[in-house]
Amino acid sequence: MKLLIVEDEPEMAASLVAYLRPQYVCEVATTFGQAQEKMLLYDYDCILLDLTLPGGDGLTLLSELQRNKKADGVIITSARNALDDRIAGLHLGADDYLSKPFHLPELGARIAALVRRRRFGGHNQIQLRDLTVDVPARTATVAGAALVLTRSEFDLLLLLLANPGRVVSKGAIAEHLSGDAAEAFDNYETVYAHVKNLKRKLAEVGAGDYISTVYGVGYTIKPVAA
Ligand code: CA
Repeated sequence: MKLLIVEDEPEMAASLVAYLRPQYVCEVATTFGQAQEKMLLYDYDCILLDLTLPGGDGLTLLSELQRNKKADGVIITSARNALDDRIAGLHLGADDYLSKPFHLPELGARIAALVRRRRFGGHNQIQLRDLTVDVPARTATVAGAALVLTRSEFDLLLLLLANPGRVVSKGAIAEHLSGDAAEAFDNYETVYAHVKNLKRKLAEVGAGDYISTVYGVGYTIKPVAA
């Protein structure tokens, strides 16, 4: 899962990245312009949005997201604590508002709740036939047998599960798993490797038919048994 951290204070940005990186692919924008460009070019599971930024106001970015019909989740993280800002932010489509200073575990919990709400209808657990995924615990089992997955494999599985029956393109997977780095790849070797490993691990616990390859396009997870 991919986060955009919009934060102009270097120390604050660094501590957010240090805290969130074990669980999410994190990108940082430190100015209004940088944030604007990234928000236009990419999709994020969650954007942490500071409001007072060099070059402009975070609320303007929020209205641009809304105008462009982007579906990214947004948590405003701001020292501005006026009721007007909160109301304006929520009206402009922000999902949550956290006043600075805040505790990192609280932010972590809010991000997890937002991702859960938006992608999986508020459920902690996703069930697909014999496969059970516990999203906050980041564990997966097939008919009770544990799947031991790397972070990328788990994120790939979640991405497919968030789009049941739909084909997820190789490009979308590359972007989801590596953020900006996806631009550096002119092939999809890492995507192929993660898919191959995930398929192998599923097959080892008897779920070899869950993920199908749509040649030349991408991958899909089947909601029902073939
Ligand atoms: Ca600021």
